[in-house]
Amino acid sequence: MIVTTQKPLDEILDFISPYTNVLIAGCDGCTQPPRGLREAKTLSQLLELGGKLRNKDFNFKTTTTAKQCDYYLTTSALKPQIEEMEAVLSLACGIGVQTLAELFTEIPAFPVQNTHFMGAEEREAGILEERCVGCGDCLIALTGGICPVARCSKGLLNGACGGSKDGKCELNSERDCGWILIYEQLKKQGKLQNLKEFRPPRDYQLSAWRVTT
Ligand code: SF4
Ligand code: SF4
Repeated sequence: MIVTTQKPLDEILDFISPYTNVLIAGCDGCTQPPRGLREAKTLSQLLELGGKLRNKDFNFKTTTTAKQCDYYLTTSALKPQIEEMEAVLSLACGIGVQTLAELFTEIPAFPVQNTHFMGAEEREAGILEERCVGCGDCLIALTGGICPVARCSKGLLNGACGGSKDGKCELNSERDCGWILIYEQLKKQGKLQNLKEFRPPRDYQLSAWRVTT
């Protein structure tokens, strides 16, 4: 899932303050926590209140799309609704916002969310943790299925750095050391010899801006 957090209301109000008719578009895709129609309606109510405090009345319309990053789905869902709108607020991740900006070039698209990472829900419900940064050269076959790029604070491909204490990262004592996790996993699987394999520096060309499907 793509993990996002909502921007402060004041920042969102600043985006839309020059406009009156604003479409709030949710996304039912992979953004977490969910940002669909219900969240769009809740946001419209909060922004209405915030607007009143600034002596500004907005006219909000709310909607959602199955996947805002899908050009076809988003065009068919939003095109009929976007007429007469002056701006659109997107509840999707940064990819969804950019899709709106490309599809509807006449009106500005603003992000409601800050997009953080691709993550998973921890066993402790409600905690989302980074698992993948989309490096383009997945090497977790060698590291016991645990990503060193996302889970080591320094993104070390040949860990550990030596600073870990009690299994925690030296840069963040609340965070498990990614390389200790990898070590423990490989130990359980009888594959500690993997740690002796040198992994060359990351090739940033592989985080390509475009791939062919
Ligand atoms: S190695 Fe790269 S592609 Fe694989 S999980 Fe980690 S960041 Fe994602
Ligand atoms: S302590 Fe572990 S997670 Fe933190 S930077 Fe060092 S190897 Fe990476």
